[in-house]
Amino acid sequence: MMTAYGFQMLSKLLLMREERRRASVSVNPLTVTYSITSACQSDCKTCRIGRRYREDPKRNDLDLTIDEIEKIFKTLGQVLFFNISGGEPFLRRDLPQIIGLACRYLRPKIIHIPTNGIASDTIRDLTRQCLQSIRHHDSRLPLTVKPSIDGIGELHDEIRGVRGNFRQLEKTIGYLKEIEKEYDNFHLELGTVVSKFNVNYLSEIEDYVHSLGVQSIATRLQRIERNFLIWKTISPLMPMRMRDLLRNSRPKYGEISNESAT
Ligand code: SF4
Repeated sequence: MMTAYGFQMLSKLLLMREERRRASVSVNPLTVTYSITSACQSDCKTCRIGRRYREDPKRNDLDLTIDEIEKIFKTLGQVLFFNISGGEPFLRRDLPQIIGLACRYLRPKIIHIPTNGIASDTIRDLTRQCLQSIRHHDSRLPLTVKPSIDGIGELHDEIRGVRGNFRQLEKTIGYLKEIEKEYDNFHLELGTVVSKFNVNYLSEIEDYVHSLGVQSIATRLQRIERNFLIWKTISPLMPMRMRDLLRNSRPKYGEISNESAT
């Protein structure tokens, strides 16, 4: 069943589509997804970003500076969705400033930040600061933070390549649930990258998320990692069977999406 949050987002999307239909001139992008850093503490089996960062920790010296980001945002115009991606976004201490610039120049209707959930205290503090940044522009603008959950307990740690990650994830979820009580515009969501390592545990993950009282879980099928040349080794199924999985696997509490994961 669609939540009130879901209805709110759907009506905004329909409104934007109508505005685009009426426009006789070229329109701005609907969605901007920006990888703010190449730094990451994870070593996920489904992604090579953390491994590459471990091998070359200077990679994130090439991350755009806050001034460079401002110059680019100024040119983009208004968007509907602003998705942050990475690396691990919460490793950038200036994340609240980036959010502030997005509010000022992109004027999105939704802001979304995925996280690996490892640096619990930092995630809690920066999420509050991001919400303060948003409040300066529009206190009703929804912010979603989406920690990744690829398994329960050791399975999660094994897939994400960090011992103790699941324990930190639980701590992060606890913090973010507290923040949900403080800010009406804050939304906690959990995300699962479906791979051959966890495809048989999806129902268990979904039940667990639901037991935490988290409103939604978004799952992302792992086929797009072609870019990282590892897709054949991690994809849960061949393409035909992948379509069957999409058709037959109707999540009990959430929905399948293709948002950015971390
Ligand atoms: S999926 Fe996210 S957390 Fe995992 S290695 Fe890639 S960027 Fe890091």
